[in-house]
Amino acid sequence: MPKFDLHHFICRQDNYGVLVHDAETGLTATIDAPEAAAIERELAAKGWKLTHILTTHHHADHVEGNLPLKRKWNAKIIGPKAEAAQIPGIDLGVSDGESYEFAGREVKVIATPGHTKGHIVLHLPQEKLLFAGDTLFALGCGRVIEGTLEEMWTSLDKLRKLPPATVFHCGHEYTESNARFALTIEPGNQALVARAQKIKAQRAKGQMTLPGTIGEELATNVFLRPESKEIRQVLGMGMAGKADVFAEIRKRKDAFR
Ligand SMILES: [Zn+2]
Repeated sequence: MPKFDLHHFICRQDNYGVLVHDAETGLTATIDAPEAAAIERELAAKGWKLTHILTTHHHADHVEGNLPLKRKWNAKIIGPKAEAAQIPGIDLGVSDGESYEFAGREVKVIATPGHTKGHIVLHLPQEKLLFAGDTLFALGCGRVIEGTLEEMWTSLDKLRKLPPATVFHCGHEYTESNARFALTIEPGNQALVARAQKIKAQRAKGQMTLPGTIGEELATNVFLRPESKEIRQVLGMGMAGKADVFAEIRKRKDAFR
């Protein structure tokens, strides 16, 4: 089975759009619908017809395009059941541990409460793909808005267990500021230092920093690395539990400018 074609673009200010196209069936999904006009433009550029909107969570900058896109394309909207009331036009609500099918591939639903209560991420094991929404970012993670820090840690810990070769996509381009912050938490991590330099060069040229892999995040994303001796030393949290170390990093990031 040939791989999906993926097409990324930045819309609104710093939202990532991604279109997933299967050449064999002609099906095309947008992961979330941050902005109808931008998605229409990118679909036209690729010559693809929208058939699905796969939603990760209810925030306006992820669902604002739902109704106009559905009206035009009659696209099927699949999203978290727990947030169904807040997801315009939803056709099918899905929950943790369930799977659905898109273009003959299994889409596994993983609940990742924290950023929102009902946030889900989508794992496509055959394609080695993860659509992480606003749970995991390149070198970062989403703000904990509706859930608790403990819940967010449990959610991220699930993603740490995915195969390292899994390619992941997320909802925002925050990578450069995440890199600046990460260097305050784990300055001696050489893989992080090298990645931060690469990101700076990419952003200076206006390039996107996605997609990345889970393996790369495991090596460089401080939110996934509460076991790190250096991080514990920097935070003065030698013996603390992993969730507590994560919570302290998240609090520092909230205050970081
Ligand atoms: Zn969000």
